[in-house]
Amino acid sequence: MFKDTVDFIKKQFPGQDFIPLHEPRFLGNEKKYLLDCIDSTFVSSVGKYVDDFEKQIAHYTGAKYAVAAVNGTAALHMAMIVAGVKRDDLVITQPLSFIATCNAISYIGAKPLFVDVDADTLGLSSEKLKQYLNEFAVKKGNESFHKITGQRISACVPMHTFGHPCRIDEIAAICSEYGIALIEDAAESIGSYFKEKHTGTFGLLGTFSFNGNKTITCGGGGAIVTNDEKLAKKAKYLTTQAKVPHRWDFVHDEIGYNYRMPNLNAALMCAQLEQLDSFLDNKRELAGLYKDFFKDNAIQFIAEPSASRSNYWLCAVLLENKDKRDEFLAYTNDNGVMTRPSWTLMHKLIMFKDCLRGNLDNAEMIESRLVNIPSSVRLK
Ligand SMILES: *Cc1c(COP(=O)(O)O)cnc(C)c1O
Repeated sequence: MFKDTVDFIKKQFPGQDFIPLHEPRFLGNEKKYLLDCIDSTFVSSVGKYVDDFEKQIAHYTGAKYAVAAVNGTAALHMAMIVAGVKRDDLVITQPLSFIATCNAISYIGAKPLFVDVDADTLGLSSEKLKQYLNEFAVKKGNESFHKITGQRISACVPMHTFGHPCRIDEIAAICSEYGIALIEDAAESIGSYFKEKHTGTFGLLGTFSFNGNKTITCGGGGAIVTNDEKLAKKAKYLTTQAKVPHRWDFVHDEIGYNYRMPNLNAALMCAQLEQLDSFLDNKRELAGLYKDFFKDNAIQFIAEPSASRSNYWLCAVLLENKDKRDEFLAYTNDNGVMTRPSWTLMHKLIMFKDCLRGNLDNAEMIESRLVNIPSSVRLK
């Protein structure tokens, strides 16, 4: 049975001996814009490509403002700073995520609080979030505090796992009821929509990543989106070393960060954005082929959740159990098809093992059975 799967995957990526999980594609104006950027001498964080990139991301996602960042982790860190997350606060997030989400929370000195994911979306569960807050949150004014530790619960950071939107409208309603800032980690979900609204635009702030393994990439890059002008201005100012604007004086009036995306990377982003819609079509077609192939199969393909349109960044399947998952990982990787298990759940890592958490049954089930399969844009 695994042999059929390997043969099928190889057929989708002809002419390759080894099929990676996700390769970048540079099929458009990348070289042209890069050369133009070099010729202009504006290679660092001031330049027309950075401005263009910000305008295009805002337009594409439907957010009022976008601020470019050096990578997705920095974008998340900055979003939490401008949202007002403080040392010793609790920040709700899901245990099934890439380490960057919890790292960004930790840079502030805040602590992750883990709430389970939904089995169908793989993202933060609105139901479990409601249950947890109902049991453990105490409201004082328009803020919520943890009943047992007294810590402020200042933000909630759901993640749209592998590009599949979570139940973000329900999560937004719950956060607003409890006075908790909603920051979407949309690192994996450029081009993904929930009820026709782009992911990353449901909360106070959303963040994207353009790392080499993402749907579109500039090597390393990120962005923050928001509809709040004050937060956008603050993010831009803090990512540029908190410099007070002046024609020649160097005055800084706060501790700032060197988090601004260089123009060189933005040049690549501008070229990649021109191809985003065709990449999305190509990936959706592949997901459709996978879905058909795994129909009536013991291996279960994870399709986009209802009411949403996924970018299918990384396609994923569920095996029957952990032993089968391990067999599948070994067979595919031994036979030229790269596959990967889920991330180790965050609460199992040594840095976060003592963090508060609710019941995490769905995340545990997914961790033991999930495998990501090759998902690159196919060359035609
Ligand atoms: C990729 C990713 C990030 C950001 O990563 P960078 O490499 O810093 O751009 C953040 N969160 C998640 C869930 C991611 O997958």
